[in-house]
Amino acid sequence: MTLLERAISSPRFQERCFFLAKRFVAGESIESAIDAVRRLNADGLTATLDFLGEDVADDAEARASAQQTLRVIEAVNHANVDANVSVKLTALGLSISEALARDQLAEIVQHASRNHDPFVRVDMEGSGVVDATLRVAESVYAGHENVGVVLQAYLHRTERDLDAAIARKQRVRLVKGAYKEPPDVAIQDMAEIRRNYVQLAQQLLRDGIYPAIATHDLALIDAVARMAHELGVEKDRFEFQLLYGIRPETQRRLAANGYRVRVYVPFGSHWSGYFYRRLAERKENVFFVLQSLFSR
Ligand SMILES: Cc1cc2nc3c(=O)[nH]c(=O)nc-3n(C[C@H](O)[C@H](O)[C@H](O)COP(=O)(O)OP(=O)(O)OC[C@H]3O[C@@H](n4cnc5c(N)ncnc54)[C@H](O)[C@@H]3O)c2cc1C
Repeated sequence: MTLLERAISSPRFQERCFFLAKRFVAGESIESAIDAVRRLNADGLTATLDFLGEDVADDAEARASAQQTLRVIEAVNHANVDANVSVKLTALGLSISEALARDQLAEIVQHASRNHDPFVRVDMEGSGVVDATLRVAESVYAGHENVGVVLQAYLHRTERDLDAAIARKQRVRLVKGAYKEPPDVAIQDMAEIRRNYVQLAQQLLRDGIYPAIATHDLALIDAVARMAHELGVEKDRFEFQLLYGIRPETQRRLAANGYRVRVYVPFGSHWSGYFYRRLAERKENVFFVLQSLFSR
């Protein structure tokens, strides 16, 4: 664990420093998340709500996390906002047992099927859980079509995983990948990750079902928009996805240009892991956070 990771995960930081995470996290309550979705919807953007949490090792905590996602689904329905949900299987108990994560995911997917947008996205985590995550998502998908996966362009294995997802007609969100992985598992060079992303995105646009192109990388966004146009893929056959608080002007510009845009809206009090990954992507933010922590 790095010094920064240790600082962020300390209870003192979490108690006092939500103001720092606020740019990336919509709030600590469901109400604040729904308010954020309302604002996004007013700008022509849809959302996916993520109740933050991961790496749960306790059965009761995993069940509480699933209950919270069920409440989110109810709240979306009740508020009549345009949003679906994303979940992390390690928050639903994947590290305790695959069966627990599968049963809880199945319940969530079943519950969401009553909503206007019934879709549930299973986020992808570190490489150690990719096989288990895909297995669980595939087994729930066998009974419910409204569940999709995330594939990471930095992993050497992803081309194979993409072929399999396309073959079973499961929806895919394509991302670069947010976890630190060794060279035998993941491409390390950013230019090469970008090249792989474009190749995978092309395959998804051509053969996939309603692909989600999740990136803030303007070169990739432009490349995908161009490819879609050249392949004759209409703007309503795929969506761009960006994270809450990152490049909001790009989110609105894409929507104004007729693209479907979904914003990933994380919320809840377990924001340290998510916040750390956002900082790790932008080294400029790190010094500011450490300075703020020690000067208060
Ligand atoms: C909707 C969505 C869902 C995701 N789901 C997953 C998932 O399930 N699993 C997973 O491993 N990863 C996920 N990610 C994260 C992804 O893997 C990347 O880590 C993240 O998107 C950064 O890569 P990038 O493609 O945006 O390009 P980058 O090259 O990192 O960023 C391009 C530009 O965007 C801006 N930017 C990017 N990040 C930040 C930041 N933190 N703060 C400020 N500006 C920033 C900067 O201007 C930067 O130059 C998701 C990303 C998105 C957008």
